[in-house]
Amino acid sequence: MAVSAGADAASAVSYEPVIGLEIHVQLATRTKMFCGCEMSFGDPPNTHTCPVCLALPGALPVVNELAVHLALMIGLALGCELAPRSIFHRKHYFYPDLPKGYQISQYDEPLCRGGSLGGVRLHRVHMEEDAAKLIHMGASGRIHGSEISVVDFNRGGSPLVEIVTEPDVHSAEQAGEWLRLLRVTLRQLGVSDVNMDEGSLRCDANVSLRPAGTTALGVKTELKNLNSFRFIEAGIRAEIARQEGVLDAGATVSQETLHFDPSSGQITSLRSKEEAHDYRYFPEPDLPPVAITEQMIARARAAMGELPLDREQRLQQAFGLTAERARALAFRRELGDYFEQAVAAGGDHGATPTELLQTLANLIAVELPPRIGSDTDPFDCSVTPAAMLALARMLATKQINMGGARTVIERLAEHGGEVEAIVAQEDLGALGDGDELATVVAAALAAHPDAAERLRTGNQKAIGPIVGFVMRETKGRADGSEVTRLVHQQLGL
Ligand code: ADP
Ligand code: MG
Ligand code: ZN
Repeated sequence: MAVSAGADAASAVSYEPVIGLEIHVQLATRTKMFCGCEMSFGDPPNTHTCPVCLALPGALPVVNELAVHLALMIGLALGCELAPRSIFHRKHYFYPDLPKGYQISQYDEPLCRGGSLGGVRLHRVHMEEDAAKLIHMGASGRIHGSEISVVDFNRGGSPLVEIVTEPDVHSAEQAGEWLRLLRVTLRQLGVSDVNMDEGSLRCDANVSLRPAGTTALGVKTELKNLNSFRFIEAGIRAEIARQEGVLDAGATVSQETLHFDPSSGQITSLRSKEEAHDYRYFPEPDLPPVAITEQMIARARAAMGELPLDREQRLQQAFGLTAERARALAFRRELGDYFEQAVAAGGDHGATPTELLQTLANLIAVELPPRIGSDTDPFDCSVTPAAMLALARMLATKQINMGGARTVIERLAEHGGEVEAIVAQEDLGALGDGDELATVVAAALAAHPDAAERLRTGNQKAIGPIVGFVMRETKGRADGSEVTRLVHQQLGL
């Protein structure tokens, strides 16, 4: 996407945003990366610590086997090249939440390199440990007027994987969409809670601009810790606008690390960008290299299951669904499973008309979620997959219209039951081509002579009040296209 730079036509250069993302994923292990402390979120502060994660002298780290397994699953899912032998490095910096004075991370021999997801290439994927958590006390905790912060070491030493993309993203929206894809992929793998609120998925965005049509990379800035999809997109948009301003004024962007404040929209500088040599990386002498085996890879592969993008493709090909519907089902595994179970309830899907499958997919992806609670697992509600198939059949054969179908879903969600019985009890069956509907249409035309006249003289929009009358009279049971047909017939159009 190219964005135009300002309104000043004389100096207008259009820029192409270039974005690379760095994502930290907290792995769903039971214990920390290098010690046996339990992973905990929300427990009382400093209750899950030991000599290793508190960096007491002489304590030695041990690599968490499950963390390596989960990292391998991520590497395989993203199509990375797996290093047969990868090593840990010490990355030095001072921070109160980092008691060792360094973080154990990976440097020039990471576990995974390359790969791609949804058209965005990956640079690398490596393992590391998380820092502890600083809690800023604000007004409630001041000493001699200065703000103080306290440290909760429960998070210190949690297992992380850092995923680094190539600079292949070109708009804020694309960044948001790609991160959603990454999140559903990780969720499907079961390697992480991927909960942005709780910090188990965190994203930094590197942003630069270049004149549209050129290929050299511009100077980038890094937006730190954007903790929701909305903030990621807003932050990137704001940073693109800021850099445009800088470049249009003839100045240069300086390489720095930035903070985006979502409430004010302001971007502030945290620090000028550090270089790799500032970290004094050196190989971690207390840990052996991670030498993965064929067995470990086979085990990771076996644990993977079908990935969302693959499922999206399969749902399109096997059932003739649109890309949009297939994605809605594939990106929420339980919806996809529910759909496939509903199809199976009808026997061999090869014999099921595509139109019926599309109607079924629409009911499950679009109509069902808001009626059972948008985050509710459909298997946990009283609407069964077989009932949805029965309902889709009634829709496809015009025995009921969409308004009626929605009511049926509401009843099923309240107390379950049989679709046909609910339709009969509540008189929800569609009024089709019978005399009854023709009579109501005639009454509607009589009640709206002006609209009828305008319609007769070619004003298509005039049908609105007539259809409205019919829907009210029939309590929404009329089939819309049948009403239109009858109106035209009775007006001699
Ligand atoms: P650093 O050494 O500053 O961490 P890296 O080369 O490791 O930089 O890249 C970090 C991230 O920034 C990657 O996602 C990469 O794709 C992205 N990136 C690198 N250069 C640019 C650039 N000029 N514009 C936008 N993103 C960039
Ligand atoms: Mg970096
Ligand atoms: Zn510990």
